[in-house]
Amino acid sequence: MRILVTTLSLLTLLLHAVPVQAADALPPGHQASPYVRWSYPSQMSYGPIENGTGNTGMAPAAGAFLTLPFMGPHYITSIFDHCSPDYSINGRICRYDGVIASAKVGGPDPTFSAGYAQTPGGQDYIYYDGHDGYDYGLYYEPVAAAAAGTVILSGWVVPSCHSCLSGLTIEINHGNGLLTYYGHLSQLYVAVGQSVRRGQVIGLSGMTGTATGPHLHFGVYYIGGGGPIDPYGWGGSYPDPYSKDIGDLWLTGSPRYANVPMPKVTITAVASKRDPTAIDVSWSSPGGGDKFVVYAVGPGGAFKKWAANAGAANAVFHGQPGGYYWFWASVTTDLGWKDANGSSVVWLKSDHRTEQ
Ligand SMILES: [Zn+2]
Repeated sequence: MRILVTTLSLLTLLLHAVPVQAADALPPGHQASPYVRWSYPSQMSYGPIENGTGNTGMAPAAGAFLTLPFMGPHYITSIFDHCSPDYSINGRICRYDGVIASAKVGGPDPTFSAGYAQTPGGQDYIYYDGHDGYDYGLYYEPVAAAAAGTVILSGWVVPSCHSCLSGLTIEINHGNGLLTYYGHLSQLYVAVGQSVRRGQVIGLSGMTGTATGPHLHFGVYYIGGGGPIDPYGWGGSYPDPYSKDIGDLWLTGSPRYANVPMPKVTITAVASKRDPTAIDVSWSSPGGGDKFVVYAVGPGGAFKKWAANAGAANAVFHGQPGGYYWFWASVTTDLGWKDANGSSVVWLKSDHRTEQ
């Protein structure tokens, strides 16, 4: 604890020691921002959190259509640069709310010259010069379609080079002149030409292509090579340095999770009062189009598949008197979300003949 306190004090000193301009290069939390989700000072070393509750303070653009491409809170590890979102390094990174990070403040991350750290020589950047999308700290987790559409790419973005660019990538055409882009994936669950629904699991995040760690690169681009745009729009008090933006594209004006049912398995197992060899088992989960696989685990501990491709149900399991049994159910919703849970252990009474 003392070490933590000392580090914090040092940090505070450092922050006070840097020029006034530096305050503008820090993620807010100490300054007015229209969007309070940036205010996570204790977690700044890994960037702010996107948790689906922030408020951009902006009205949605006409035709706003996006929800977050994941579920649950995740760090934002890099933002869209309104000052040259074409990976060119010009020493300035302009955030959607007008804050400008500069190579002269804090300084380049020594391990990543395009990233401008918040502390001198540090690696605590969320400012990635020329970045044309948002990086979210997903660790091999489900990636959700940010809106309904048609898959137009599902594969290596450069087929001959698996360490290039965003590696395994999905693009979805939303029929409004825009596509969403999901990069660095480890698994793809959709195919080109397939229609997907908002909130559908389309792949598993990863770190294919050029990546320093597992994350999701999420971007919005004009169809046909017209360039990227910032889904968070522009809320700066000066004109947007990037001319192609079309405003805040989040469905409600603020990033939210897709409103789709998430699975959560409940499974119960109770010895039957009617039959000494019977166990009443029932399983269910909120969600749509649920498909369950249910395993029975008996004496010896082996999992035996008992039900597959099943809906929510009650069923009677027959075991050996004197045996212990429990049950494990996994579910996949029709949007590809998964959950699993186990029942408590049930002991079947021994036969009267053997009971002492
Ligand atoms: Zn990225």
